[in-house]
Amino acid sequence: MAVTAVKAVKQGARRLLQVDLEGAEGPAYPPLCPCCNDPAERGVFLPVQCGPAEKAERPPGFLRFPTCRVCARHVPFFARLTDFMGWLILALTLVTVGFGLIGFAAYSSGQSGWEVVYVGLRLPFRGPILGMLTLLIAGAVGVGYAVLSGVIIVMPLYWILAKRGCEEVPVKAEIVTASPRVLRLTFENVRYGAAFVKTNGGEMPAAPPPGAVRRPAPASRGASRRGPGGRG
Ligand SMILES: [Zn+2]
Ligand SMILES: [Zn+2]
Repeated sequence: MAVTAVKAVKQGARRLLQVDLEGAEGPAYPPLCPCCNDPAERGVFLPVQCGPAEKAERPPGFLRFPTCRVCARHVPFFARLTDFMGWLILALTLVTVGFGLIGFAAYSSGQSGWEVVYVGLRLPFRGPILGMLTLLIAGAVGVGYAVLSGVIIVMPLYWILAKRGCEEVPVKAEIVTASPRVLRLTFENVRYGAAFVKTNGGEMPAAPPPGAVRRPAPASRGASRRGPGGRG
């Protein structure tokens, strides 16, 4: 595959490197771990799925990045953990808000039993203000659980299972167009991304001096040039 575009992109506070490649065969990989930059170990790979599948003519499958043993384990583990934590936080939020409403109904009516459950769970539907208030409280509870689970579950696991300087999602792969087949890789690890560009015969965009206002480079070298035909 040949590098057709290299772009520095920002995602929130993060700086990522976005690399477009074109060609039928797979890319070449530098002998480094895409997560921690340590030398890749023999026979250890990080599979990265190319999404979205519906844009490709055939199932796009996986890219296999040579990697180190530690990162080959923690990257897929934290991807699964993030999914699981999302569902856990949602469930905990619903249960907390549900019990809160039932408790509030019991407290304000002095009743007990199933009648209170019925009244409590119907409270948010009594009017727009109660509904909005419930949503706001649910949002706050959800954020609280997310922060709490990050501090007591994800961060300790990260310290145990990953190295310092490891990335959360080191590489994302996406098929942009099926024919010509354009593969877009987004690297959280910009240093590895630069090595990847070099390995595949591409050129890094000229870095603007720190603090400089963005302006077009004097010899506007195509940081985003496309081949003839381009996007069809
Ligand atoms: Zn590594
Ligand atoms: Zn890592």
